[in-house]
Amino acid sequence: MHLGHVVNALYVWGLARALGGRVRLRMEDHDRTRCRPVFDTAILDDLAWLGFEADEGHAPVDRQSDAGRAYADALARLAATSTVYRCRCSRRDIGGHRYDGRCRALALPDAAGLSTRVVLGPGEERALDGLLGPLVQTPDAQCGDLLVRDRHAQWTYQFAVTVDDLRQHITLVVRGADLASSTGRQVRLARLLGRGTAPVFVHHPLLAGPHGKKLSKRLGDAGIAELREAGYTPARVIGLAAAEVGLQPEPQPLAARDVARLFTDP
Ligand SMILES: [Zn+2]
Repeated sequence: MHLGHVVNALYVWGLARALGGRVRLRMEDHDRTRCRPVFDTAILDDLAWLGFEADEGHAPVDRQSDAGRAYADALARLAATSTVYRCRCSRRDIGGHRYDGRCRALALPDAAGLSTRVVLGPGEERALDGLLGPLVQTPDAQCGDLLVRDRHAQWTYQFAVTVDDLRQHITLVVRGADLASSTGRQVRLARLLGRGTAPVFVHHPLLAGPHGKKLSKRLGDAGIAELREAGYTPARVIGLAAAEVGLQPEPQPLAARDVARLFTDP
């Protein structure tokens, strides 16, 4: 973990505690080509050292890499009511743009090496963001038919978190502002999967350096483990993170058990 992750943790725990909610831990290791068990051991170790304790999903640790069955079931349900199809386009074919649906009419077979997409359909989605206010997005115009599983048979972030938020009855999603643009497509996908009421979202500020860049390259690159070795206490790390995003005026130490104060004190 680096300081940016501490910012996320203090928003998650602070808001959950301030609102009387429960925190669910989830290892988002849906892409097994990128995630390694050693990373999640380090994350759990850092969270424990900082003093952030989850209420659910920690014993045993809830891992997306263990939830393949749930994702396969969700995809089968989705395919029964929505248009799901195979796509042969690589990331390079699409070139970072909106996917134009060029494989939709090809009826490609269910073969290895092909990805899977779902038609999101036209129209707007609305969601409430506790910091940004109402979010109104048109997912189809943003991304086109959504990738749910890639060419290497890995579930995508968008699909895995939407299925998890639905099956785990998540009502508040707290995450960085860089994910705000994903909200509409996740709300739409959840609706296609049968979810009635969307979660409330809070997209919090990202750690910014002096030039408005993410701080992760400067102080944040010193991971929590390094700060710890340099003699920082957990409260000092949390206090520093809180000050960096303007949740407190000065970087005075703040214990994990007290982070709700940032959201309840006038
Ligand atoms: Zn395609």
